[in-house]
Amino acid sequence: MVTSKIVTRFAPSPTGLLHMGNYRTAVFAYMFAKKNGGKFILRIEDTDRERSKKEYEDNIVESLEWLGLSYDEKYRQSEHVESHTKYLQKLINDGKAYISKEEAKDGSGVIRELVRFKNNGQTVIFEDAIRGKIETDTKDLGDFVIAKSISEPLFHIAVVVDDYEEGVTHILRGEDHIPNTPRQILIREALGFPQPIYAHLPLVLSEDRTKLSKRKGALPVTDYRDMGYLPSAILNFMAFIGFNPGGEKEIFTLDELVEVFDITKIHKGGAIFNKEKLSWVNKEHIKLQSVDVQLKSIERHMKDYPEDMLKKLLPTVIEKISNYGDLATVDNTEFRFFIKRPVVDVEKIVWKNSNKSEASQNLKSVKGLLLKADFSSPDSLKQSIMEYAEKNGKGNVLWPLRMALSGQEKSVDPFTICYVLGVEEVVIRIDNACQSLDS
Ligand code: GLU
Repeated sequence: MVTSKIVTRFAPSPTGLLHMGNYRTAVFAYMFAKKNGGKFILRIEDTDRERSKKEYEDNIVESLEWLGLSYDEKYRQSEHVESHTKYLQKLINDGKAYISKEEAKDGSGVIRELVRFKNNGQTVIFEDAIRGKIETDTKDLGDFVIAKSISEPLFHIAVVVDDYEEGVTHILRGEDHIPNTPRQILIREALGFPQPIYAHLPLVLSEDRTKLSKRKGALPVTDYRDMGYLPSAILNFMAFIGFNPGGEKEIFTLDELVEVFDITKIHKGGAIFNKEKLSWVNKEHIKLQSVDVQLKSIERHMKDYPEDMLKKLLPTVIEKISNYGDLATVDNTEFRFFIKRPVVDVEKIVWKNSNKSEASQNLKSVKGLLLKADFSSPDSLKQSIMEYAEKNGKGNVLWPLRMALSGQEKSVDPFTICYVLGVEEVVIRIDNACQSLDS
């Protein structure tokens, strides 16, 4: 038996920057095609000449490339007007559509030759792969307009003809297109084209359960790229808006997503776009990266740090961020002291009810221990100091140490700081603090 190849398409209109919710359709169409060894097509629906802009088309191409959703073919709807017109003419010739001279509604008195589809008002039934049987009484649609003139076919006929000519077998698109489907089925039947399978994806909702929009926090995909998010994380996040393969695992690469994708597991209900989840998913994808890639990524933001220091600091940095872009601010608040010796603030170094001389004494003892310590890991340093700290009061010992080294009331633990700074710098900072405490 010859089974025809599965073909899906993503058919955006380049009339604005698409937000992340819009790309969710592309992710699903891609996953479905690839899962079935099929083809994924990009079709730019640019028939609205006034509103369509090249820059938006470019942004779509750039976004898909960045996400790694490579398409097998690309079409521009406007380049197929001849074909749309040919089929429009066929409908007219077959008596299934007719030219209707009508006065323009703008009151200008201009007579236009619209093309209307001859609709006999049948009930259209189709089996949606996600939502099951959908039945529509098309009587109320009347003889709907399918072209502004014989040379200006409109959206519905263009979509039907393109899907046919491009061999699209499965139409995955947002559920906001459900009202269009009966019209498109009527046109398709009138032209005698085979029936594709429809799968209408649940709307993407913002956290307040209203329709997702840019204002509600869904940004163009390229904005997430510019903010430092990882494409693999954005993909993973989008794939889970309205879909879950089941099981505990939530972090997937694109190949793994394709592997587990199952159209019957797409939800019917509105799917929520949750920004916190996005941060979490991104952090998990950062953790999946190799140390080399992580290092390169943080180097870009932390240019002033010596490389060997960054290597030691890497796990701490990764722990503190959910997105490399966070480093633009986090670096200043959390890590600068590693490369900039703190100004000693005597008041702050002294722990609660303790005093300067006790703080100084403890720092000197700790210095003695550190001079003999193994600096190969934060843990080995902890072992060298902890016994003394427990004996003399953890606050009394560790607070002055951390303050002397970092100058910050909040920072990573003192063992990690010692490890990252290295013994020489640690000794200098402790000496500086003691000098101030003793004077
Ligand atoms: N161009 C339409 C849109 O951007 C999609 C049409 C379709 O998927 O059939 O909403």
